[in-house]
Amino acid sequence: MAFTRFFMLPVFSGLLLVSGFAQPKPSLSEISAYSFEIYKQLHQYPELGKKEFKTAALVRDELKTYGFTKFYEVDGLPTCVIAELDTRKEGPVIAFRAELDARPGKEKSGVAYASKIDSLVHSCGHDAHTSILLGVARLLNSRKQLLKGKIYFVFQPAEEVKGGADDIVNSGILKKLNIGSMYALHAASGLDVGKVTISPGYIMAGSNYFTIDIEGKGSHAATPYEGSNIPVVASKMVTTLSSIPALNMDISERPAVVSVTHLEAGKSGGLNVIPSQAVIRGTIRAYEQIDEPFNGRPSISDIIRDQLAPFCAIPGVKCNIDIRKGSPPTYNSPELFDHMVPKLIKTFQGSIDTTPHRGMFSEDFSYYTKGIPCLYFGLGIAKENLGHANVHSEEFSVHPDTFRYGIELFVRIAEVQ
Ligand SMILES: [Zn+2]
Ligand SMILES: [Zn+2]
Repeated sequence: MAFTRFFMLPVFSGLLLVSGFAQPKPSLSEISAYSFEIYKQLHQYPELGKKEFKTAALVRDELKTYGFTKFYEVDGLPTCVIAELDTRKEGPVIAFRAELDARPGKEKSGVAYASKIDSLVHSCGHDAHTSILLGVARLLNSRKQLLKGKIYFVFQPAEEVKGGADDIVNSGILKKLNIGSMYALHAASGLDVGKVTISPGYIMAGSNYFTIDIEGKGSHAATPYEGSNIPVVASKMVTTLSSIPALNMDISERPAVVSVTHLEAGKSGGLNVIPSQAVIRGTIRAYEQIDEPFNGRPSISDIIRDQLAPFCAIPGVKCNIDIRKGSPPTYNSPELFDHMVPKLIKTFQGSIDTTPHRGMFSEDFSYYTKGIPCLYFGLGIAKENLGHANVHSEEFSVHPDTFRYGIELFVRIAEVQ
């Protein structure tokens, strides 16, 4: 099949043959071109979280081609690839992380190397992160006599679905490898190519989820007074939920968003029937623990339950409110920021913007940031007509000049340790 033949070809050796630059120390521009070739392959053949078998095989094959021999497994996560670069000199133990997974969806980016897999697309830029990290691994391995300590390259499955980072953390592998600091970058839509953002402290919210099952008495549509009018009750609950942060919390002190993302009732489709059930699902983004009181005031979970209580107390209506915690907020270590960022500002050829910024997006890199000093960078991907559309949109794209800056950023981090 075309997929297997094209996808499994090690790009490293292929590119060397084509371009003929078989020098032991490839330049940054050669590595950037190589990285973009990898990206085009990954982009055309996206795979969902925990099913990134061909992507992981490509990553492993490429790493072996550069001379990597030591790999680590993570129990229950077969598509995870962790590779070791040991300089055999005393020094810090650091790790770089890139994600492997794509998302369900269509692609309307207009690029020639668009997804060839039906209903799957790399709309979060993880293919760019993986190709960049492969470029970094190749470049650093070719210059390891200039480095010290150990560097681990963590190619992580399943950022977009449950598991992934938390599985890796829970496996204990990072502790076993004695990793002292960890770094990641993410494609930042609309940020110019050559620009990087980084700020200390909390930068992204934690994500939490809720499911509310509502049940009551159905009725004929002509006699709503005989039943519980569950669609009406559910709609009022949606309005209440969506306005909780604005009306019930001091959002300048405790930023939070409650978004309903799924509302379902009347599955039978009958237009003369008022259904007896509805389901509301959604997400809570916040910087606090949603099940813990905040400065003596009720927790977000308690506020949600209190605000929904009147609806659930309507005679004949029963509610089941399930609130689950997801990934924690993402935290950039201020000490690591102070140690690394001034040195990066001096050496990185792009520009580094340290303006404090917080967003309500979330990211499973946060699981690493809970236990290890970490830095998470935004990487500019916008130039000309590419890189402007939001992540997760059908139009999402990454400009080819991005790769050079992503690779250089990580290489500098390794160099200035
Ligand atoms: Zn994403
Ligand atoms: Zn992402």
